[in-house]
Amino acid sequence: MFVERANKLLKWFIPAVWTIKDSDKSVYLTFDDGPCPEVTPKILDILDRYDIKATFFCVGKNVKQHPHIFDLIVNAGHRVGNHTMHHLKGFDTSLNDYTKDIEEANKLINSNLFRPPYGRITIKQLNELKKSYKIIMWDVITRDYNRNLKPEKCFSIVKRFSRRGSIIVFHDSIKSANNVLQALPWSIEWLRSEGYVFKTIQ
Ligand SMILES: [Zn+2]
Repeated sequence: MFVERANKLLKWFIPAVWTIKDSDKSVYLTFDDGPCPEVTPKILDILDRYDIKATFFCVGKNVKQHPHIFDLIVNAGHRVGNHTMHHLKGFDTSLNDYTKDIEEANKLINSNLFRPPYGRITIKQLNELKKSYKIIMWDVITRDYNRNLKPEKCFSIVKRFSRRGSIIVFHDSIKSANNVLQALPWSIEWLRSEGYVFKTIQ
């Protein structure tokens, strides 16, 4: 269903935030599925080295398990968003169960940003959640979670598809570690050399 860049039909079908265009040549780095003690601190170090702020879409159960890692993200000045309590697929979950799970996560995360896991959300769920959250999708998927891909491939996806306003997805998870930890600094350096500035999602 998902290719490296979200396609037009999908964007039309799911009325949410896919790109954020402003007067700057901006891109938005986002990290899903953490906090993860083995990977998140390393990503924070990379971001710190380049003096960049990003947006982390956290899974509530991981925040509950690793509150000190969550605090590291927040205290470093990054933005956090809600990615459900249990990384639920909207298509397989009733409206009531889905919103309850997100509310549970938000007691820990406390954000007005929400990103649906797998991008799978029904229109009914979307409309309900829009009352309380900005629904943030993406423009560029690095596919860093795919262990069959090399970090060079993730980097080439960033180079090929990033444009003004792109929301770029990486993951702070064990299965993404090898790809993200290598492709992230390459991507940052390349984006910077192309004149992009990095912003958090507001
Ligand atoms: Zn996810």
